[in-house]
Amino acid sequence: MDPQGAAHYGAGPMTGASASDIVREIHRRLYAAYGEPAQHPDGDPLAVLVNTILSQNTNDRNRDLAFARLRAQFPTWEAVRDAPSAAIIAAIRPAGLAPSKGPHIQAALRQITAERGELSLDFLATLPLEEARQWLLHLDGVGPKTAAIVLLFALGRPTFPVDTHIHRVTRRLRLIPEHTSREKAHGLLEALVPPELYWNLHLNLIAHGRQVCHARHPECTRCILQDLCPSRAGA
Ligand code: SF4
Repeated sequence: MDPQGAAHYGAGPMTGASASDIVREIHRRLYAAYGEPAQHPDGDPLAVLVNTILSQNTNDRNRDLAFARLRAQFPTWEAVRDAPSAAIIAAIRPAGLAPSKGPHIQAALRQITAERGELSLDFLATLPLEEARQWLLHLDGVGPKTAAIVLLFALGRPTFPVDTHIHRVTRRLRLIPEHTSREKAHGLLEALVPPELYWNLHLNLIAHGRQVCHARHPECTRCILQDLCPSRAGA
């Protein structure tokens, strides 16, 4: 399917439907299955930035534990920025990869302070979207997913973060071409998905990837999207 929405769906019960119609149908079914995502906007872009760096290569529980320990021991972001490196590494150890995540977090906080004259990302709320994205991308340890998460979840900007689950599920559904890189998927899915669905579809695709469309053994026989999916088992 053409991710820009120009082509039409070639198989299944929605043959001939536009890409946009397919996305809305996928959203409708996932919403019916998983409901309104529990996650709510944080409002503190620094918290979301740090939390997302902590989340790399770990599960939510360990990320949350590391984040809670960090906040308990260093109540302000200035304190995190200025603490000895070893103390930050010790605080976030439950998240794993602490010797690299700790320095990344502190380097990003120092970089923001040096370039903005204060430790705040609030200015991103009013910067043109692509400028805001590029500004985040130039920070230490920040890639396309982290930038998009900060913009969407802290600031309500229309971005569509692509994690490993979304990358896998949307390729299997052929919403994006099979061999699309994760980096490239951000732009393709932002062009395809209606902005008002970004938040909900992002979280419900992750839920579907975790609960049904597993990396190794997708449970296609109980999948609510199987009649729309060119990758379903036996297709
Ligand atoms: S049919 Fe299978 S491959 Fe397709 S989305 Fe469902 S679980 Fe994933």
